[in-house]
Amino acid sequence: MRSGPKPERLRLDYTGSAATAAEYPAWAIAEVAVAGRSNCGKSSLLNCLGGRSDLARVSKTPGRTQRIHFFRETALDFALVDLPGYGFARVSKADRARFAAAVDEYLRERRNLRGLVLLLDVRRTPEAEEHMLAEFTASRGIRLLLVATKVDKLGRAERARRFRELDSAGLGRWVGFSSISREGRDEVLRGVAALASGQMENAGEV
Ligand code: GDP
Repeated sequence: MRSGPKPERLRLDYTGSAATAAEYPAWAIAEVAVAGRSNCGKSSLLNCLGGRSDLARVSKTPGRTQRIHFFRETALDFALVDLPGYGFARVSKADRARFAAAVDEYLRERRNLRGLVLLLDVRRTPEAEEHMLAEFTASRGIRLLLVATKVDKLGRAERARRFRELDSAGLGRWVGFSSISREGRDEVLRGVAALASGQMENAGEV
């Protein structure tokens, strides 16, 4: 990882949620979006980066899971954008299409989007959704930070094997993270700050 400024924690204030572009905040500050499959550990990661345990509860409130949530980072002045989780096993086709449309519209339309943090449970393999998100950001010149979550669940040998597989999946280099052991927290904090300030030079390079 490149040595860049690392905030001690993100100071995130929830500012609202949106289902369509008409409802996005009207600000011009840089935005860093966070995406991942449902249950990948996105809420736990946001809470861990924010240094408090109630931060992402808002996005788990029934009826709000399909919305895009905006958090303003008050020290560095950018916004963290929590995109709806995808890949629910038990969700209907119509609901899946709605999630996809909301994320697609945000990634397509949002002019101040600077970076995407893409989360994946370290035990999973990138699938069509991860490849699509990575290709989409590359086509728009948006930087990507790849984070493999829940690394505390694997022993050393299995873990090394998983990272070799992930790194050779063609998306870039993955940063390991655990919201339980807090491993990788500094690297992810530094990566998010770099995305927000536009200082990350190459996709996958952190
Ligand atoms: P989300 O649906 O992506 O927001 O995922 P959550 O943060 O709610 O986490 C889903 C499940 O994974 C919960 O049972 C968490 O306790 C668990 N979890 C999240 N992060 C970690 C982690 O780093 N390590 C372990 N062992 N479990 C985790």
